[in-house]
Amino acid sequence: MRVIASSAETYAFVDRMRTDGKRIGLIPTMGALHEGHLSLVRLAKKNCDVAIATIFVNPTQFGPNEDFQKYPRTLEQDLDVLRNCGCDLVFTPTNDQMYPAGHSTYVEPPNVASHWEGKIRPGHFRGVTTIVLKLLQIIPAHVGYFGRKDYQQVAVIRGMVRDLNLPIVIEACETVREPDGLAMSSRNRYLSAEDRRRALGLSRALGSAQRLIENGCTSGSQIEQCMRDALLAAPVDSIDYAAIVHPETLEPVESILSPVVGMIAARVGTTRLIDNATFTLG
Ligand code: AMP
Repeated sequence: MRVIASSAETYAFVDRMRTDGKRIGLIPTMGALHEGHLSLVRLAKKNCDVAIATIFVNPTQFGPNEDFQKYPRTLEQDLDVLRNCGCDLVFTPTNDQMYPAGHSTYVEPPNVASHWEGKIRPGHFRGVTTIVLKLLQIIPAHVGYFGRKDYQQVAVIRGMVRDLNLPIVIEACETVREPDGLAMSSRNRYLSAEDRRRALGLSRALGSAQRLIENGCTSGSQIEQCMRDALLAAPVDSIDYAAIVHPETLEPVESILSPVVGMIAARVGTTRLIDNATFTLG
């Protein structure tokens, strides 16, 4: 497995691979890797010839009061697990390389960024679209692998790919969970033992919503209330949103006639967690 910090060298490697007719899969990450990330690498390995992961804690997607400084950085362990997964190349750029002095160009995200995370974390998706487009310039991959765990992020990236005519296919991969249901996240390591128990409120709330829908409930607001009740029973410390939305527009749905997505963001202790699930009708 190659580990390259230079964008010029990475581009040259990818260019050679493309000239050789290889299909390239890209997995952008911020490191602190877990099984969720590795599932993306394995899928890329299975469906492409070359799997390229990137590790970069992107400052422009963090707000001023968020956890950029203390975001976990575990590069050596990350490289070990990527090697074991058969990853071919890891691009590990420096901040200066991605944001050279004077950097002032950003990608305006599509409208789907305006709800939920976009409202609560102003500028977050602008940071995401900017870094993903920059990574795609350095690594012109055929397929980009992203996790459904960040459901809105996938919708935002698909919107950018459509709007900017980017020649890439976006694959959205299932959320990998701990055995008790907690969605894996690099931020789970911030949770104390007690917070870790309370964090189960998110997946439980989604489970309750699924059961309600299977039992024939078609009212978005009733299902939202059921998710809120489950979150408060955990108890989480605060709820940013617990919403039933259309799978593509992410607009709230009041009358459920086709599959919908339940999206949750809540705070447990000082940790902000998100989760979601797609609900099919009963
Ligand atoms: P991050 O390092 O948090 O930026 O995540 C990098 C990629 O891994 C994103 O596409 C995430 O959606 C994806 N990801 C994070 N957690 C999970 C998970 N539990 N299951 C599947 N994919 C995930």
